[in-house]
Amino acid sequence: LSERLSGVFDRLTKQGALSEEDVKTALREVRVALLEADVSLPVARDFVKAVQDKATGQAVTKSVTPGQQVVKIVHDELVHVLTGDEDPGKLKIDNPPAPILMVGLQGSGKTTTTAKLAKRLKERDGKRVLMASLDVNRPAAMEQLQILGVQIGVDTLPIVKGEDPVQIAKRAKTQASLGGYDVYMLDTAGRLHIDHELIAQAAAVRDVANPRETLLVVDGLTGQDAVNVATEFDDKIGVTGVVLTRMDGDGRGGAALSMRAVTGKPIRFVGLGEKMDALETFEPERISGRILGMGDIVALVEKAQETLEVEQAERMMRRFTKGQFNMNDLKMQLEQMMKMGGMEGMMSMMPGAAKMSKQMEGAGIDDKMIKRQIALIQSMTKKERANPALLQASRKKRIARGAGMEVSDLNKLLKMHRQMADMMKKMGKMGKGGMLKQAMK
Ligand code: GDP
Ligand code: MG
Repeated sequence: LSERLSGVFDRLTKQGALSEEDVKTALREVRVALLEADVSLPVARDFVKAVQDKATGQAVTKSVTPGQQVVKIVHDELVHVLTGDEDPGKLKIDNPPAPILMVGLQGSGKTTTTAKLAKRLKERDGKRVLMASLDVNRPAAMEQLQILGVQIGVDTLPIVKGEDPVQIAKRAKTQASLGGYDVYMLDTAGRLHIDHELIAQAAAVRDVANPRETLLVVDGLTGQDAVNVATEFDDKIGVTGVVLTRMDGDGRGGAALSMRAVTGKPIRFVGLGEKMDALETFEPERISGRILGMGDIVALVEKAQETLEVEQAERMMRRFTKGQFNMNDLKMQLEQMMKMGGMEGMMSMMPGAAKMSKQMEGAGIDDKMIKRQIALIQSMTKKERANPALLQASRKKRIARGAGMEVSDLNKLLKMHRQMADMMKKMGKMGKGGMLKQAMK
């Protein structure tokens, strides 16, 4: 599939403009990708329509190819749909003891996720957690949670045979208050399918516990059925978030998009294995790439953009070696520097610059400094940027003040510019760009 996608995008890449027909062709493939990733049909349809509107509305920008643009729009829109308002990893668990209700079908991973989450709350947030199994249906279910509790060092409510889930929930609440717990987690019983009894039981527990968070645990490998499950649970019980389990498997995660789109409930966590630390905060970007199966395309686009930047840099370097290095160039270099994570990346692109790099470090040039330098350059007029020798004392004062700095700061910047310009000219004489090209690779 992803080959097919990349084929379409290749074709788009080779054309000059993003016509409505191009977008349509690309989006047909995107739609197939969505359906294959188990996104439900109405959701896929809505999604594609949203992208179509955005894509055709946008004229092709010069700097990227049409294919790249479509990829980006699709990706961004997916991330947009998948992203909630809240921070997914942050649960509402103030006012101890805060009850968390775990619901879902049998085998979805409730018990495992309860323990994983308890461990996370304990280790990351320093919470005192009490876990209680309300699963009176399956014989060893309560023991399962107890064993996990011992394993992760989290208390479980002592098992009392013969109680019903509501009684257990009440006891958990009391115990959590008396024991000074911050959070108590109620791990409910599931069934293979949603039925009246399951819902009635969960609702009764909810009414007793009044949970702060009700997390629906869904197997990430279930396809479109996940939407029905989510809708049903949300309607009948009220859900505050979703945990997608088994995302270590080869499920595409389309269920995530569908559930999000249909119920509007945020995906909070993702289960990535059976181990107790295999739980991560939900990241829309990762699922987005996965749904479209276009991790390779995204990489391709990134590489293309990189190449573009290298070409640009090479063009610039050719000018510099002819002694044409003005303040605008310096500004671009500084901005590039910020983008590449500071001095090191920048200097690795410029041969023979190691010495100067040291000098700059000595002068205390860091990211904050770079930002201030950019601000200084921005305060100059066009003419001054092209030819900083024009700067008179009074202008220097004004510029420095305009950028909230001292004239001495500006002088330092000008000195740096002169040094760089000199150095580049010298480099040009030395290697006629050959060395530069090598350094670009
Ligand atoms: P419950 O019936 O909803 O309580 O489900 P369980 O927590 O008992 O989990 C059922 C099975 O799924 C167990 O064997 C778990 O180890 C496994 N499981 C749970 N979460 C994950 C996950 O994220 N990845 C994988 N690979 N297995 C999981
Ligand atoms: Mg269970």
